[in-house]
Amino acid sequence: MPDFDAIIIGTGQAGPSLAFRLAGAGMKVAVVERHLVGGTCVNTGCTPTKAMVASAYAARIARRAAEYGVVIGGDVGIDMRRVKARKDAIVAASRNGRTSALENAANITLYRGHARFASPQVVEIPGERLRAERIFVNVGGRALVPPMPGITEVPYLTNSSMMDIDFLPQHLIIVGGSYVGLEFGQMYRRFGGQVTIIEMAPRLVRHEDEDVSAAIKDIVEREGVEIRLNAECISLVKRGDEIVAKVDCTAGAPEVTGSHLLLAVGRRPNTDDLDLDKAGVRCDERGYILVDDQLQTTAPGIWALGDCNGKGAFHPHRVQRFRDRRSESARPRPAPGQRACQRLCPLHRPAIGPRRHDLGRGTQQWAAGAGRRAVDDARCPRRRKGRDARLYAHSRRWRQQRDPRRLIARYGMRRGCPRDPRSDVCQSSVHGHAARDAR
Ligand SMILES: Cc1cc2nc3c(=O)[nH]c(=O)nc-3n(C[C@H](O)[C@H](O)[C@H](O)COP(=O)(O)OP(=O)(O)OC[C@H]3O[C@@H](n4cnc5c(N)ncnc54)[C@H](O)[C@@H]3O)c2cc1C
Repeated sequence: MPDFDAIIIGTGQAGPSLAFRLAGAGMKVAVVERHLVGGTCVNTGCTPTKAMVASAYAARIARRAAEYGVVIGGDVGIDMRRVKARKDAIVAASRNGRTSALENAANITLYRGHARFASPQVVEIPGERLRAERIFVNVGGRALVPPMPGITEVPYLTNSSMMDIDFLPQHLIIVGGSYVGLEFGQMYRRFGGQVTIIEMAPRLVRHEDEDVSAAIKDIVEREGVEIRLNAECISLVKRGDEIVAKVDCTAGAPEVTGSHLLLAVGRRPNTDDLDLDKAGVRCDERGYILVDDQLQTTAPGIWALGDCNGKGAFHPHRVQRFRDRRSESARPRPAPGQRACQRLCPLHRPAIGPRRHDLGRGTQQWAAGAGRRAVDDARCPRRRKGRDARLYAHSRRWRQQRDPRRLIARYGMRRGCPRDPRSDVCQSSVHGHAARDAR
C-alpha cells in the first residue's frame, strides 16, 4: 500500500492549492479526483456561469446599443451553440491547466477514481489503497433535488446539466430564487427566452437584507423575468411537451407552464458515499462534516475543507474566516451612545470579502440593538471600492492596501462611516474600518 504524508480527496477550490503548498514543503501528497479536476467552480459553477453571463451581458448591451448611439442593423440574435462553445473553451483551459499542474508537480500523485475511507488513515480507490497520517476531505457538493410532488414525472435540469444545453429554452421555469436561480434567470432572459422564477419564501435571496431582496426583484423584473413568491406548495406535472408547475402563491395564476425546468433550490454535500463512519468522521443532520475552527473533523488527522463542511458556500474560506472572527468579536455590546459603526465595522475587518448576505442580517440586528439603522451599501460609495478590491483579498498587495492608515491617506476617509446623513451604520468594510480607525 503506497504511503503518503497527506491525501487530499477532491480537486475543488482548496484541494489543489493545499496540495501544492504541502508538496512545496517537501511532503509526499496523493490527490484523488473522481470526475473533473477543478470541481464545481471550474466545471459547472463560477467559471462557466460567468462566461455565459458575459455573453448574456453582451446581448443586453447590443440590444440597448441605440441608447448609446450605436447603430446595429437589424435584430440582435443569439447563437447558443457559440455561447456554449466559448464557455466550454474557457472551462477546458482552466481545467486542463489545473490538471497538468497537478500531474507534473513534484511530490504530487494524482489518482483518478472515487475515494472512500477504509479506516482513519486509509483511503480506498478502485484497485488501490492509499495510506497517510493526514487526510483532507474537499469533496464539495451537488445540486439538491428536493422530493417535491411530481419531480420524478418531469425532466429537469440542474446547474450541472444546464452546462450541456446549446439551445435557448423557450420558457425556462426556475424553482429557487436565490443566487444560482437568479444568475441563470437573468442570463437566459437576456439571451431572449421567457423566464419565470418560483420562490417559496416571501422574497428573493432571503439571506440578504429585505431592501436588497426588493432591489434585486426590481432589477430582474424590469428585465422581464417573472417572479412568483410565496410558492409554498409546488408540484410538477407534464402536459404534452410542456412542464406545469402548480404553485400556491398569494398572487397570480396557480400554475406556471414552461418548456424547461431548472432546479436551483440549494446544494447537498458529497459526503454520503465516503464511508466516513469507518474513519470516525461525523456529520450533521444535513450531511455536512462537523469541523472545528481549524477545519479539524471529529477524527484526529482528518480535516474537511470547502462546501462539504457547510461553513458557507461561495468564497468558502474567506467567509469562514470571517465567521470565526465574527463570533469572537460579536460578544461586546455597544456602550450607550457609542456609534454602532464603532462596533460593527471592526467585525467586517477580517475579511474585506464577506458577501453581503453574511453581513446583512447581523448588521441589521446589531444596528437595531444600538438604536441605529443599517444603510444599504449601494448608497455607500466607499463600499463599492471595497467590493472591487475584494477580488484581490488574498494578494500581498491588497493586504498592504487594507492597512487603515494607507486607506485613510489614500481615500481621505476621515469623515466617519455613513455618507447618508440619516444612517449610522455603513456595511462597508473598507469604509467603516477606516472610519473606526480614524477616530
Ligand atoms: C451555478 C453556480 C455558480 C457559482 N458561482 C460562484 C461564484 O461566482 N463565486 C463563488 O465564489 N462561488 C460560486 N459558486 C460556488 C462554488 O462553486 C463552490 O463554493 C466551490 O466550488 C466549492 O468548492 P469545493 O472545493 O468545496 O468543492 P467542489 O468544487 O465541488 O469540488 C469537489 C471535488 O471533489 C470531487 N469528489 C467528490 N467526492 C469525491 C470522492 N468520493 N472521491 C474523489 N473525488 C471526489 C468532485 O468530483 C469535485 O471535483 C457557484 C456554484 C454554483 C453551483
